[in-house]
Amino acid sequence: MTDTPKRIVSGRAFDEDARLDASVRPKRMADFIGQARVKENILIAIEAARSRGDSLDHVLLYGPPGLGKTSLAQIIANELGVTIKTSSGPLLERKGDLTAILTSIEVREVFFLDEIHRLLPAIEEILYPAMEDYRIDLVIGQGPGARIHPFQLNRFTLVGATTRAGLITAPLRSRFGIVHRLEYYRPEDLVEILRRSAQILSIALDAGGAEEVARRSRGTPRVANRLLRRVRDFAEVRAQGRVTAEVAREALDRLGVDEHGLDEVDRNLMLTIIQKFSGGPVGLNTIAASLSEEEDAIEEIYEPYLMQMGLLDRTQRGRMATPLAYKHFGLEPPRTQHALF
Ligand code: ADP
Repeated sequence: MTDTPKRIVSGRAFDEDARLDASVRPKRMADFIGQARVKENILIAIEAARSRGDSLDHVLLYGPPGLGKTSLAQIIANELGVTIKTSSGPLLERKGDLTAILTSIEVREVFFLDEIHRLLPAIEEILYPAMEDYRIDLVIGQGPGARIHPFQLNRFTLVGATTRAGLITAPLRSRFGIVHRLEYYRPEDLVEILRRSAQILSIALDAGGAEEVARRSRGTPRVANRLLRRVRDFAEVRAQGRVTAEVAREALDRLGVDEHGLDEVDRNLMLTIIQKFSGGPVGLNTIAASLSEEEDAIEEIYEPYLMQMGLLDRTQRGRMATPLAYKHFGLEPPRTQHALF
C-alpha cells in the first residue's frame, strides 16, 4: 500500500524504496538494530526450536509501517536456516490462493503474511487448523456430493505482520505463540541504523549529520533511510557529498520536514484541530474530510507518531490537541483545554 500523495515521512514503502531496501535491509539478527527485548525473545525461541529440531512457534509482529516487521520475518528465516514464502492479506483473494501456498510449504519453512488484518474471513478460517494442527480441509467435488478431505501440511512457522493489531480477530490472535509490538526507535538506534546504511551506500555522513537526520525520522528506520538518500542528493550538489548537521538541516528544511520530523500534512492536521475545531474533540471522519486524506492513512501513519510526540490525544469523543501541541505551534491553549488535562 502506498500513500497518495507520497509523503517523504511515511513509513509505508514506495516503489522507489525497493532497491534501497534490498541493499540496506538487515539479514541477520546481529544487524537488526534496537528493539532489544523483541530481538532477545525471538532469538531464545529460535534457539529452543532449533535444539528441539522443531518448527518455531507462530509469530505475530505489529506496529506502524517501516519499523522492521518484514526485515524481522526474513531474519527469522535466515536464523532458522530455512527459506521463506511471502504473501499479503489483500493478495489472497480466493481460498485456492492460500491453499496453494500452504500445500507447497516445506518442513520448518517460514510463511510471512503481511497485512494479516486484511484477510477475508473465509480465507482466515483456513489458517486456523493450518496453524494449530498443520492441517487444511480440502473440499473435493461440488454440491451435495462434496467431501471434506483433511490434508496434512508440513510443520511451518507463520509470521504475521500488521499495522492494526486492533483489527485482528480473537481466534487468529490466539493462535500465535509469540506476539511482539515494535516500538518507534530511539534516536541513538536511528543514528546507528543511519551509520550502517551510509557505510553500505558509501555516503560520507558525520556524527552531527546522522543525529540531525535521526531526529527528523519519526522513530522509523524506513523514513531514516529515505531521508538519508535525499540529504545525500543535496550534499552531492551543494557540499561535495559530505552530510554534516548543517547540510542535513538545510536539506530537510527545504523538503518541509521540521526538527521533530513533522511535515506539512502533520502540521495541517494539528492546525485543523486547533484552529477549525477549537482544539477538539473532533471525529476522525471530519478531520479526514477537511484534510482530503484517507481515514486509514491518518489512523495508521500520522496519528501514532503525533500521539507518541504528545501532541495529539485520542479520546472517546474524538481527537484533541494537547497543550503541548499549542506550545509547539507557538499558540496559547484555551482555558477550557487546560481544565481537561
Ligand atoms: P515494515 O515491514 O515494518 O514496514 P521493513 O522491515 O520493511 O518494515 O523495514 C523498512 C526498512 O527499514 C528496511 O528495508 C530496513 O532497511 C530498515 N530497517 C527496519 N528495521 C531496522 C533495524 N532494526 N535495523 C536496521 N534497519 C532496519
